[in-house]
Amino acid sequence: VNIKYTGVCNSDYHAWKGDWAFKPILPLVLGHEGAGVVVAKGENVTNFEIGDHAGVKWVNSTCQSCSFCEEAHESSCPNQKNSGYTVQGTYQQYAVANAVQAAHLPKDVDLAKAAPLLCAGLTVYKALKNANIRAGDWVTIIGAGGGLGTLAVQYARAMGYKILAIDGTNKKDHVLSKGADEFIDFNAVSDIPEEVLKVTEGGPHAVINVSNSVKAYHDAVKYVRPTGTVVLVGLPKGGATLSTDIVSHVLRAINVKGSVVGNRADTREAIEFFRRGKVESQVKIVGLSEAPEVFKLMEKGEILGRYVLDTTK
Ligand code: NAD
Ligand code: ZN
Repeated sequence: VNIKYTGVCNSDYHAWKGDWAFKPILPLVLGHEGAGVVVAKGENVTNFEIGDHAGVKWVNSTCQSCSFCEEAHESSCPNQKNSGYTVQGTYQQYAVANAVQAAHLPKDVDLAKAAPLLCAGLTVYKALKNANIRAGDWVTIIGAGGGLGTLAVQYARAMGYKILAIDGTNKKDHVLSKGADEFIDFNAVSDIPEEVLKVTEGGPHAVINVSNSVKAYHDAVKYVRPTGTVVLVGLPKGGATLSTDIVSHVLRAINVKGSVVGNRADTREAIEFFRRGKVESQVKIVGLSEAPEVFKLMEKGEILGRYVLDTTK
């Protein structure tokens, strides 16, 4: 795939730092939100033609024969390869993906805006599905102003949920403009569980944490509504653990569930929400050579939405 644009995900930052227990290959080209044009294909590939638009995502290839692949849990395939982690990624002009896992991008979808859907959009859409809630229920999105969070707010709005967004002071206007009903500033509020319980009148039916904050996870298991679900998406650096008060956990019958990207059907559905205009993809386009500057902004928590790299610059 001739990659035209590639999104900058916080997971790329973790890969660069090497701060998870699961280590990337070295040397490594980062990137797993690559959108571009098919320029070559293997002789057995029948589902793509030269000139088609394609996305290269985190799940670069899977074995298609394990029990996880069999049941469409492809992102749990033990034989999967991951773009920008265990195979070379998309921070370059030409990248390779297995044709089964490459995403089909409709020609009427802007490639720069499509890039963040391939990880951020897909991941939050799947996390919301995994939350197993109904239209009208409360969902709290932690880290709502970042790359995953901005899209999470919009998918949640499109799916009919009431949204309580949590992020820093500098993200408030941005997050409310994307459709959040309520906002809590984690810098300004000292007792977050108390405030969340008040705003949602007894706790949200689901919580999606897309921040790296370990404290936010501990808060979430305290304030989620009885019978509700905390979906773990954000990946703090290695060694972080989550503890929970067992008696309270059992008596409130709460669920705590990890969620990692999504399968091919989730990918198609997430792209379709965007194509139909139900979610926007707000991107800031800079050159590939500016990736180090983007990581600095990410470190400081200053990014609103997603930065996308133009691979020609
Ligand atoms: P990002 O840097 O764009 O956004 C993170 C946001 O969290 C920022 O807006 C930041 O201000 C906010 N934040 C930090 N501390 C907070 C706190 N205590 N309370 C509320 N908000 C807080 O990052 P991103 O690209 O959106 O990625 C987010 C996380 O998701 C990373 O850990 C990344 O590795 C992970 N991720 C997981 C999956 C998956 O499949 N599970 C997929 C992609 C990314
Ligand atoms: Zn990602």
